[in-house]
Amino acid sequence: MESALATRLHEVRRRVAAAATASGRSEDCVTLVAVSKGHAPATITAAARLGLEHFGESYLQEALPKIAALDGMELTWHFIGRVQANKTRAVAEHFAWVHGVDRLRIAERLSAQRGHYAPPLNVCLQVNIAADDHKAGVAAEEAGALAARVAELPRLVLRGLMCLLPEEMPAAAAEQAMHSMHQLRTELQARHASMDTLSMGMSGDYEAAIRAGSTMVRVGTSIFGPRA
Ligand SMILES: *Cc1c(COP(=O)(O)O)cnc(C)c1O
Repeated sequence: MESALATRLHEVRRRVAAAATASGRSEDCVTLVAVSKGHAPATITAAARLGLEHFGESYLQEALPKIAALDGMELTWHFIGRVQANKTRAVAEHFAWVHGVDRLRIAERLSAQRGHYAPPLNVCLQVNIAADDHKAGVAAEEAGALAARVAELPRLVLRGLMCLLPEEMPAAAAEQAMHSMHQLRTELQARHASMDTLSMGMSGDYEAAIRAGSTMVRVGTSIFGPRA
């Protein structure tokens, strides 16, 4: 298992570096978040031994025992799923990053519930850039107003924007949406200097996302293979 993992990871890193170069940046400008949902702690340990540090999980119930089992490995955990209002406390306590914030109420709860011993929680605002009825996220026109409110919350650091494009979206439309995300993040960063992150790109589209300016890609299948 470990050598297949090493081979896949090597290939992903090579492609990340090539796409970063194509966008005129160094590979250090792109953070690789390994999406470990559906995979056991032993697999995550193997990935950490290969140098991965950032791990993404979508389901709280699945994530919490894994995070506990791997406590002491100094991994950085990203919550990339939908944040439900009644689950914010556990998210605020156990993760370093939350990518899917799309409502002020959720941000307020995360800020209030972040432990005072812990560093501020890094958050990205999820933008429904494709204006897809089925996808979560704040409308692009409302992202600026939400960012202004979230930036004031004491226990959060507003790090940037995140998007999740519909799988069936044609490549040209997806690229257009990615460029819109990059533009929106650039505009908002002029007002909020902490917004250094664009969380965009998964196994199917991370190279295009990096070429469009993504700084953080969330890759599961291409690193770990198919989920059970
Ligand atoms: C599952 C998931 C990913 C990773 O998907 P892959 O196609 O396996 O790379 C990335 N982002 C989010 C929000 C996810 O839920």
